[in-house]
Parts: sequence; structure tokens; C-alpha cells
Amino acid sequence: MQPIVFIHSLSSAEQNQWLTLFSELLADEKILLADQLNDQQATKIELAIVANPSLEELARFGNLVWIQSLWAGVDAITRYFNTPATISAAGIEANTNSVKLVRLKDPQLAQTMAEAVLAWSLYLHRDMPAYTKQQQQKEWSQLPVALANDIHIGILGTGELGLSACAILLRHGYQVSCWSRSAKQVSGATHYQGATELPRLVEQVDILISLLPLTDATKGLLNQQVLSLLPKGASVINFSRGAIVNHQDLVQLLDSGHVKHAVLDVFEQEPLMPSSPLWSHPKITVLPHISAPTNIKTAAQVVAANIQRYRDSAEIPEAVDLERGY
Ligand code: NAP
Repeated sequence: MQPIVFIHSLSSAEQNQWLTLFSELLADEKILLADQLNDQQATKIELAIVANPSLEELARFGNLVWIQSLWAGVDAITRYFNTPATISAAGIEANTNSVKLVRLKDPQLAQTMAEAVLAWSLYLHRDMPAYTKQQQQKEWSQLPVALANDIHIGILGTGELGLSACAILLRHGYQVSCWSRSAKQVSGATHYQGATELPRLVEQVDILISLLPLTDATKGLLNQQVLSLLPKGASVINFSRGAIVNHQDLVQLLDSGHVKHAVLDVFEQEPLMPSSPLWSHPKITVLPHISAPTNIKTAAQVVAANIQRYRDSAEIPEAVDLERGY
């Protein structure tokens, strides 16, 4: 049995946490770091566990059968498959023809994201940005409280995270609409499908939440054209990837008063640069990519089970569709 390579750009403390859990859960496996394998040994490795890997490092392992990501979002790795020129610029030919990319699907992650969706939906519903401002100004003023079932929330993306978010919002009495590429039935929510039906969702929601993967089709999707369809006074939450929202267009709509508030957890460049005007915009809440961090303990169990199944039956978990990009 060949060793498994662990390619990452984590801190050494995080690396050690993962390795300790893997050594408990996968006692028969040898898991080595990329720099513990020379180029010749690297060609024999069939399985890689990755977390923010250097693409050049990944390309050194030219005969991989599958790659297990420790994160749910894999847009940074799909570049490895889609832009071989980047890799060959480093002087290495990547063999990406048959390798499968498997992303993390952890029910705990979906639960954590659902909690974040509920928390920041309540934050907007119960006017916390306004009360924060009032406190700074020592202003005692009680705003009217809207009922949850008078608030309509739109979830973009009805995958692992989106469905979990819809369920928690429905349990709390909100009206929920959701949107995805393919046709779906989501019990209790109204579902919209594909680019042509997106405006119908956007034009009726009070809070619009992105839980979409970043792909060629979703990059810049929430731009002036789409966001201006929101009813005046609606708010936006982005918990997926920064590049899905055109921040310049969003700021214009916040400044004009069309959009009331935005909660942004993800940015094209992270950490967000200290010079970014988004930090100090009075209608933007900036979060440091914390809506749904991978839980090392539960994620290690999911990954270990995937690897064990592969060893027992050669079954590779469902892989990312590289043409779709998610
Ligand atoms: P997923 O299971 O793959 O679901 C993606 C959903 O988006 C699916 O419903 C899919 O439609 C829909 N979609 C994709 N492209 C679309 C398009 N062009 N038009 C309409 N719908 C489209 O992904 P997930 O596990 O829910 O994760 C979603 C994203 O959340 C990840 O990619 C990652 O970027 C982000 N994330 C963020 C954090 C954080 O802490 N901020 C943590 C984890 C993940 P179909 O159902 O029709 O395929």
C-alpha cells in the first residue's frame, strides 16, 4: 500500500492536529508531507489529502488517482485542472486526465453554515446594525419588530449548505425561496431554476444569501443588474466566495440606499487588505471568513471513512464535475 501525501499550506499546529487525528483514525496508513517524498517517489502516490495546496506541489504528484480536499469549496484547486499552463509554467507537466477531485461533504459543516445563516439573518431581521449605530450615538430608540413570517429570504445554491440553510430558516418561520441550476423540490420553500428564473427570486426577497460555488458561471453574478432587482431596503449576505459579488456595484447600491446592509464573510483577496474601503463602510459588516469553518474532528472522520472505503472496495467518493466547476 503506497503512502498518502498531505499537501497543504496550513500552520504547523493545524498540520499536527490533522496528522494526529489521521494517525488515530487510519492507523494502517502512512501519511507523508509533500517534502518527505522525492520526485521519483511522488510519481507512485495515488492519493492526496489537500488543504490550500500549492498547485506546483500538487503537479509533482503526476499519477494521482484521487485528491481529497479538506475544504468544501474547491475553486482554488479546479484551476489545477483547468489551467495546465499555470502548472507547466513551473516546469512540471501535470497529469490531470483521470484524477478525481473530491471535496469535503461533512454534515457538521452544513449545520455550522445553517447556524451562521440563521444568526446573520436574525442580525438583519432584528436591526442589529441600526442598534449598534444607535449605541455609538447614545440614542435610545425602539424600532418596530417585523415578524419572521413577513420576511422573505432567498438562498442562492441548494446544495449541501443551501438545503441545510433553507431548513433552519423554515423552522424559524421565515418565507424561503431558493435557486439552483437544476430543477428541485424543496419542501416548504419556493424553488427557482437557472439564469432565467433568478430575477423572479431576487425581486421579491428581503434578504438575499449566496451559498453558491465560485465557477465561471457564478463569478460576478451578483452585480448591478441583478442586485438592483432587489426590492428597495433589502439586504445581502455573502457566505460563499468573494468574487461572486461585484463589490463596487454593491457599494453603489448601498450608497444610493437601494440596498440596506450587506454582511460579507468572503473576499476575493483574503485577509481583506487594511486599505479596503469595505472595512469602514457603515452599511457593511465584515467577517473574516468564519461562517462555516471546517471542524477538524468531524472532517477527519469523513475523510478517514472515504479512504477506508477506497481501500476496502476501490470506491472513490463522488467527484467534482470539472466542466461545471463544482
Ligand atoms: P454544493 O453542494 O456543490 O452546492 C452548490 C449549489 O449551487 C447547487 O445547488 C448548485 O446547483 C448551485 N449552483 C452552482 N452553480 C450554479 C449556477 N450557475 N446557477 C445556479 N445554481 C448554481 O456546494 P456546497 O457544499 O453547498 O457549498 C457551496 C459553497 O459554499 C462552496 O463552494 C464554498 O465556496 C462555500 N463555502 C463557504 C464557507 C465559509 O466559511 N464561508 C464554508 C464552506 C463552503 P445544482 O443543485 O443544480 O447543482
